[in-house]
Parts: sequence; structure tokens; C-alpha cells
Amino acid sequence: MKVAKFGGSSVASAEQIRKVAAIISEDHDRKIVVVSAPGKRDKNDSKVTDLLIELGELSLATGEAESELQAVLERYRSIAEELKIDGDIITLIETDLRERLATNRHNPGVFMDSIKASGEDNNAKLIAAYLKSTGLNATYLNPKDAGLLVSDEPGNAQVLPEAYDQLIKLRDHEGVIVFPGFFGYSPEGTLVTFPRGGSDITGAILAAGIQAELYENFTDVDSVYAANPNVVNEPVEIKRMTYREMRELSYAGFSVFHDEALIPAFRKGIPVCVKNTNNPSTSGTMIIAEREYFFNPVIGIAADDGFSTIYVRKYLMNREVGFGRRLLQILEDEGLSYEHIPSGIDDTSVILREHQLTDEMQERIIDRIKNELHADDVYIEKDFSMVMIVGEGMHNTVGVSARATAALARAHVNIEMINQGSSEVSLVLGVHQEDADRAVQALYEEFFGASDGTIQ
Ligand code: ASP
Repeated sequence: MKVAKFGGSSVASAEQIRKVAAIISEDHDRKIVVVSAPGKRDKNDSKVTDLLIELGELSLATGEAESELQAVLERYRSIAEELKIDGDIITLIETDLRERLATNRHNPGVFMDSIKASGEDNNAKLIAAYLKSTGLNATYLNPKDAGLLVSDEPGNAQVLPEAYDQLIKLRDHEGVIVFPGFFGYSPEGTLVTFPRGGSDITGAILAAGIQAELYENFTDVDSVYAANPNVVNEPVEIKRMTYREMRELSYAGFSVFHDEALIPAFRKGIPVCVKNTNNPSTSGTMIIAEREYFFNPVIGIAADDGFSTIYVRKYLMNREVGFGRRLLQILEDEGLSYEHIPSGIDDTSVILREHQLTDEMQERIIDRIKNELHADDVYIEKDFSMVMIVGEGMHNTVGVSARATAALARAHVNIEMINQGSSEVSLVLGVHQEDADRAVQALYEEFFGASDGTIQ
């Protein structure tokens, strides 16, 4: 059995949904189809999820958002009309949305989750109706009925282990299940969404839940590439990579697959294949437990911006028992999550995502570190990028960091921080944001310049 997940661009229009139908009918093992909300039909279009966020926010603020509601309905209407779906699917979708908008707003997070999730929920109903009309035995299934139980944090759900006891039963289902991505239900019955892009997570949970032989993730590119095609000209295609490599690259900005989506597949050892809805005959990228590392110790180069550093210096820091714990305790008290902590003898830097730091928060943090830890110097620097060289083969290969730093030196990129985790799956280089593209290009040239188009 396979789980096939189709992302927003794969279900953005009638034409795309026809391709989805063809892909499903071509392989009878594709038993569970997970769908996103309709995405962008072209560059200037809006994702339905974004329209729904506008609708929900305006409705919360003013109690009135009729034209925003109509904009969402219009997207479904144009798809349903072109696909000639019988029955009153649009009336059904409209009633559903109006009901959601009329629910209690005392908890805005819960209200917004219900509005956001309607994007996938109604699309799944629409696609199931279309598949049925083509003669396929397809049924829409709601995550509540399937037992997709998640934690109760709006916009940030995590699957609960007991969900898997329920999901395994889906194996016995007759025909194709069309399942909305992006949300589940708490044990109390509240709808909760995953983080943005979370339909990938739903697909991975279901694949793990039914112990699928394969989790296919259909998107709009032929494969995962070794670098961002907007930064590097025609980067090579990756044919095989490991879960850990994909996770590291997703973390650092490869948007093709959600970084949290790999964990369920990885735990159950289910291979993941990234494929193109617009070109389904290409083999795509396989994400598996192990690959041959000898020829390609490095698999990809990623970069993500929007990082800040909290720099802390205190003489004899190395001898002060508990300094690190107290420093991190301050961050925990303030609800801040950190990414890296490169350290010297008398100084340390905590690197974290910039969006968490308001001006007020920065002042408070600096004050607290100075006063509570008696630090000699504390300051925050902004606008850093983390450039990551990723590859499980680095572990057994001498000279990767030397090649990387030499390539950056030749490109006149100043390295502000280097961090290599003990697993050696990735080497993280902190650079100023304005140098990030140049750094990626230089590293790509160094590690893939001689490649012939694909890496196995
Ligand atoms: N529609 C949701 C989003 O745009 C989830 C997804 O497409 O994966 O974030």
C-alpha cells in the first residue's frame, strides 16, 4: 500500500486535479491520497490557506468578511465547474465555512485553526467527489473518524502515539481514501492544525500508521536539487538521500518537504519519494535510511536567513559550573527557542531565529544576562544566514571543512561561526545575510561543479 500526498500546486486547479486522478488510477496501490488546500495557479495567485487566514483574521477583528469568504468560494467554484462535479458541493462548502465562521471565538487560536483547516477539508471532499465521478471507488475521510489524534497546541500540533493504534485500521478500508492534510483532533475533540506546510506531516503520519510500502510526496519539481535553483543555475538532481540529510536540508530552507514530516516515516522505516505531478514518469528523489556515500559525501548546500546571535563574554566562564544552564534558563523563561551554541573559553554565542526577538525582548534579555549572570559583555547581532553543507558521508571523509572554508575564502565570504554537530551530518557556517548567496554558489561549485546532472 502506498500513501500519495499532493501539495497545493498539484491541486490548485481543475487541470491539476485531473492529473492527480490519472496518477491515482494508474497504480492501485495508491490507497490513501492526502491533499492540500488549492495552492497558487501561477506566481501572482494566492494560496487558499492564505485567503482563509485573511478571512479568519478579518472576521475576528470586525465580525464581517463577506468578500473574503466569496474569494475562497470562488476558488472551489471554478474548480468544481470545470470538473463538472455533480451535486451541490459548493453549497456544502459554503455551509461548512459559514458554520465555522459562526463558532465561538473566545479562543482565537482554535477559531483560526478551524478556518485554516477548511482549506484542505473542503478540497478533500471536492476531490473525492470528482474521483467518484470518474468511476473510482473513492471516499473522503475526516481525520477525527480516522483517529488522527494530536496535541492541543493551535497551529503547532504534534501527533499523539495513540493515534497509531487507530490509523492501522485504515489498511482494511475498501477503495481509495481521500484524506485532508494539515490537521488532526485533540483527545477532547478540538480541531488542531500542524505548522504551515503541514500536509506533508499528515501524509507521513498516515504512511507510518498503515505501514505503507512507500510514501509518495507529489509536488511541482522533478526532484530535490543539491541547491536552491533560484541561487544556483541548474543544480544537480539528487536521486537518493537519507532521512537525516533531507531533514537537515529542509531545516535550512529546502521547502520541497516539511522538516517535521520525516520523523514518522523515519521511525517506521518507510521510504519517501518526492515526485512531480506535472511529470509523474520521472523517478523523483528517494529518501531512505542509507545510501552509498563514497562518491558523494556531500549531498546538498542550503542556506536560511533571519538568524540573530546573542554574544556573551565572561572571564573564567569555562570554570563556572552551571553558567550554560543559567544562560539557557533565561532564554527558556522568555519562551525563546535556540538553534546553535558555539562556545569559546570565556565566551559563548546563542544563535536563534530572529523573528522571536522584539526590541523589548532584546533589551530584557541583555539586562538579565548582564545582571543575573554578571557577564562582562553581552550584545545581540542580527541578519545572519546559516549556510549548511549536508551529507552523511562527511563523517568518513577527510578534508570537507578545509574545502568548504577555502572555497568561501576564494569568494571573499567572511565566516562568522562554524558548527559541526557530533554526527557530522552537517557543517553549519554562519555568514552575514548579504554574503549567503555567494557562499552557496561557491560551495556548490566546490562540491558539485564537476557533476553531470544527477547524484545517486
Ligand atoms: N495549506 C497549508 C499551508 O499552506 C498546508 C499545506 O499545504 O501543506 O500551509
